[in-house]
Amino acid sequence: VVAAPARITLDFYARRRQRDARYRRMLLRLKDEPATSKDGQRLRLLANIELPSDVSQAQEVGAEGIGLYRTEFLFMNRDEPPGEEEQYLAYREVIAAVDGPVTIRTLDLGADKQSDAVRVSQATNPALGLRAVRLCLRDRNLFRTQLRALLRAATAGQARIMIPMLSSLSELEQALEIVREVKHDLAREGIEFDSKVPVGGMIEVPAAAIAADLFANRLDFLSIGTNDLIQYTLAIDRIDDEVNYLYDPLHPSILRLIHNVICAGREAGIPVSLCGEMAGDPDYTRLLLGLGLVEFSMEPTRLLEIKERVRTSEREKLMGQTQQILGCADPAQLRMMVYQLNQDGE
Ligand code: PEP
Ligand code: MG
Repeated sequence: VVAAPARITLDFYARRRQRDARYRRMLLRLKDEPATSKDGQRLRLLANIELPSDVSQAQEVGAEGIGLYRTEFLFMNRDEPPGEEEQYLAYREVIAAVDGPVTIRTLDLGADKQSDAVRVSQATNPALGLRAVRLCLRDRNLFRTQLRALLRAATAGQARIMIPMLSSLSELEQALEIVREVKHDLAREGIEFDSKVPVGGMIEVPAAAIAADLFANRLDFLSIGTNDLIQYTLAIDRIDDEVNYLYDPLHPSILRLIHNVICAGREAGIPVSLCGEMAGDPDYTRLLLGLGLVEFSMEPTRLLEIKERVRTSEREKLMGQTQQILGCADPAQLRMMVYQLNQDGE
């Protein structure tokens, strides 16, 4: 708040408001344009949503689909978890409304996402406790109910199942086995469902990022959750303000892990997207393009700005420049190199 602003201050902010309004109008004109880099690489920009009502916001900015539907929001602010029918209706509403993939993440409750309806780890370190897929493998009825609703709703469009917080292959095998069992049950009961829904996993635990090739061989797609990947790799609680100054997407270990996952996906011939906050930050768009990322999923409000970045970038050139960034040991120099990527063509 500026109390009793001088004329010059008022003029400054009035001009800035006009400039911002012009910029927003320019971005809105990009809504129906393709997310293609200057050298012709087609990228895919998807939206992250939390509730079915968020779909309209994703459509307003021309998102090509949903890269992350955080279903745990359906479980919050209530005493009992939603039943199969309620979940079915919610997922179906989203899948039917979206002309593109709808990536539904199975329950990721725990740590920063609490619900009175489901008991999750209250241990000293809930981020390392019984949460997400671990919780689903413990409380199998909860998992099965969600999978039944999801597989049934999938007949309405292009759904994808995404399993969060994978850290070991045995967890993945158990989760895949439950998906198979649920399909078997639905078929036996004569209930209509989509048997071909792709199953992917979130790579957000360092163990999974390091061994991404092993996960890639068993999944239909991968999605990098940088919010948690950064938290776990750098040992920084993402909701602790005292240490958030250490939270650094440009840490060399993070860049190497992202690169490793993208390469593992390419080797296995499966798509890799990135759905953490990094995907919606224009300061990282060129870096991620240079690391080989082709699918970004973000808050809808960020999408047009990211599209503008993509459309003014030369991907091939960025890939060469990014190799040097990956080899850079000095954090200050690395930051400067990323800054320079963003200045090119400005
Ligand atoms: C992530 O961890 O990057 C992510 C997208 O999931 P969430 O923020 O919901 O944990
Ligand atoms: Mg996460």
